[in-house]
Amino acid sequence: MNFKDKTVAFGTLGCKLNFSETSTIARSFQEQGFKRVDFKEHADVYVINTCSVTDSADKKSRAIIRQATRQNPAAFVVVAGCYAQLKPEEAAKIEGVDLILGANDKFNITKYLENLEKHAQSEVHGCSFREITDFQPASSFGDRTRSFLKVQDGCNYFCTYCTIPLARGKSRNPSIESIVQEAKNLTAKGIKEINLTGVNIGDFGKSTGESFLGLLKALDQLDEIERIRMGSVEPNLLSNEIISFVANSRRVAPHFHIPLQAGTDEVLALMKRRYNTALFQQRVEEIRKQLPYAFIGVDVIAGMNGESAELFEKACHFIEKLEVSQLHAFPYSERANTQALAIDGVVPMEERKLRTQRLIQLSEIKLHLFYQKNLGRTASVLFENQPGRKTSNGWTENYIKVEVPYQADLLNQKKLVRLRQIKDNGHVTVDLL
Ligand code: SF4
Repeated sequence: MNFKDKTVAFGTLGCKLNFSETSTIARSFQEQGFKRVDFKEHADVYVINTCSVTDSADKKSRAIIRQATRQNPAAFVVVAGCYAQLKPEEAAKIEGVDLILGANDKFNITKYLENLEKHAQSEVHGCSFREITDFQPASSFGDRTRSFLKVQDGCNYFCTYCTIPLARGKSRNPSIESIVQEAKNLTAKGIKEINLTGVNIGDFGKSTGESFLGLLKALDQLDEIERIRMGSVEPNLLSNEIISFVANSRRVAPHFHIPLQAGTDEVLALMKRRYNTALFQQRVEEIRKQLPYAFIGVDVIAGMNGESAELFEKACHFIEKLEVSQLHAFPYSERANTQALAIDGVVPMEERKLRTQRLIQLSEIKLHLFYQKNLGRTASVLFENQPGRKTSNGWTENYIKVEVPYQADLLNQKKLVRLRQIKDNGHVTVDLL
């Protein structure tokens, strides 16, 4: 069928990996003649790339699907992503959904489009997580400055609270050579910063005889790239070698994202995480020793089953002492088919939310201290596309958001600056040097 006069809109929830995958799916629609429109617009086809990491993500997935069916009840509605993989029967019950695709089919959506006539019943193409074995490359190419490049997918860890391995299958990755080629393609289009994304990127290469450090070394050789940012790396996989490499690297940004998840050994054991608090602390201290100004972002889950009030206090005490830059705190969310459901000591949701709030407040203090520590320093900033804004914004290599009065010629440029003052909006004003 000729889709030349047809429009398609994409709605994406969840992680950067999902956003990079939507970009790639969108390109496959454009190759078929579709015109991409904004999600809020009337479209002939809506594709929703869902998330299912928490209960709230499930709710948001259902809400965005309903939004699409309301915007154009005659539109052909496709649901893909983690919610579609994990809960296809639930998605099928939402009125107006035509097609539900599991993890193995989400990159082949256009093959399922015939005449775009609505289906009387949702058509489901699912698969077991054991059948998810292919690596599907993906990268975003949004604002022409930064790209999220998928380097790994899936996870072999099965932490007791996590449903991601069931949604995305086993850990897998492409070769370093193919990623280097894709990075070159992106820089040829003007991309200056590449963000490496995946589910468990520190696991890169385990199944292919390569390594994450090998990937960083290969990308670091590419003169075309201005900056590389690592996504989240598990503390047990963030070796001293990786930290030393970043400290001496020309392009890999001093920006670490390390999931802690719980601040006590007791809860880490209940979660079946592969490290203890001592190892985590040692990772942070090693980074601080080699890269005193590095940004360190840390994920924490509040109120996991078995986390008593005393254990939470102990966790707060541990986290307060850690010299990290920001916390990403979330309340624990029960997920179907996870081992954590069998752990005693359920924390009421209200209490989980209170604990999360406390961690968020702690995070604000830490971020402010981190920014303060950087005032007066010079840094390089990559300015991004900000159409219609009064300010030009960008990020330093160590992930501080800065702003200057709008200057069109700063777009997509890397500039040396001096960090001056923290504004009320949390951005830092700078002098261009
Ligand atoms: S490492 Fe644990 S939390 Fe992270 S995706 Fe794998 S199973 Fe989930």
